[in-house]
Amino acid sequence: MEGKPLKLSTKILAGLVLGIVAGALLNAFMPGQVKSIDHYVLSPIGQAFIRIIQFIVVPVVFTSLIIGLTSLQGTGKIGSYTIKLLPLYIITSAVALAIGMVTAYLLKPGTGVSIKEVGQGPDAQKGQSLVDWLVSIVPTNPFEALSTANLLQVIISAILIGVAMNLVKEKAQPFLALVKSVYSIVERILQIILKAAPIGVFALMASVIATQGFGVVNKLLMYILGLILALAIMGVIYYLILLMVGAKPNHFFKSFFPSFSLAFGTASSNAALPVAMDNAGDRYGMKREIASFALPFGTALKRDGAAILQGFNALFVAQFFDVPITASLIMAVFVSALLVSFSTAGVPGAGIIMMTTVLSAAGLPLEGIAIVAGVDRLTDGFRTALNVIGNVANAAVIDRWNK
Ligand code: ASP
Repeated sequence: MEGKPLKLSTKILAGLVLGIVAGALLNAFMPGQVKSIDHYVLSPIGQAFIRIIQFIVVPVVFTSLIIGLTSLQGTGKIGSYTIKLLPLYIITSAVALAIGMVTAYLLKPGTGVSIKEVGQGPDAQKGQSLVDWLVSIVPTNPFEALSTANLLQVIISAILIGVAMNLVKEKAQPFLALVKSVYSIVERILQIILKAAPIGVFALMASVIATQGFGVVNKLLMYILGLILALAIMGVIYYLILLMVGAKPNHFFKSFFPSFSLAFGTASSNAALPVAMDNAGDRYGMKREIASFALPFGTALKRDGAAILQGFNALFVAQFFDVPITASLIMAVFVSALLVSFSTAGVPGAGIIMMTTVLSAAGLPLEGIAIVAGVDRLTDGFRTALNVIGNVANAAVIDRWNK
């Protein structure tokens, strides 16, 4: 893809910083007007941007996966990538989760917090069981998979279609030509949409800071800083993993910066996916067949930030309510948080909804969610950035192994 990627990342970064500054100024000097400015200007622009970038997620994933599959020597490769990716996902997510729990254990962000409630909890949602979830990823209707943007269903549909296309050979050519044509169009749409990214990110950041301000931060300072610290440690671990496998970490972080900054600004892994796929090919030089499969697959499943959030948060809640941290509590949190991290959606605020499952599994009070709800959006950007870093880094490791 063409364009000026470096300039774009600078612009997105400028949007982020200016958004934070504008939000802080609004919060400090125009407290009376913040609500209506946010309601009529900032939120609509930010939400519109998240919506329009999601417009291309499904077509990008569907078409690039089919193009990748039909260009392979053997479609068996998808199987081999899956077999390599899954254990890697589980190991790195377990490491992330352990870091989150150890950080919370050592920093004790939940002890001595004097507030009883700083925000509103989400509506209690019952978590899906693992078996139900596994069954639900099997598509019943390819058009439904596409229209509901269920990423795993889209991936499975595309693989099935791609494999069959390889089998029917020439008869699939007209459809392949169509898919390639759609891909080119969607690629161009992404370039157009990205022109609005700095404004979208500006509006999203300004909205968060203007409406939340920093007042609430003071009360849960250790919670926010501890969480960000754990996320940063995992980011460093990914740097070291990439260094170890010879995947050029500096080049990696530079190449994928636009997608990471977009993840931070939008707090949506799904929204960052088309940009991550673009960065993978254009800037990083990842093998196309790996990027076209591993990145959507990871966007559907891989969430290091969510794993850290759940582990850290559960211990915070235990500390806050003086629940003794026993070995069985740690096990319950570890297992449930690991599973939950794989089924957290790539949309803003998904992590907080999933807290219900982890806290229930560990027998911790659900009221804990209301305590942290007020600051969730402030850490969501950091979490999402790590979610995307982890997803892309695992793909880069596989890419390296295949070279
Ligand atoms: N917002 C995150 C994401 O899109 C999910 C979360 O809330 O942790 O990856």
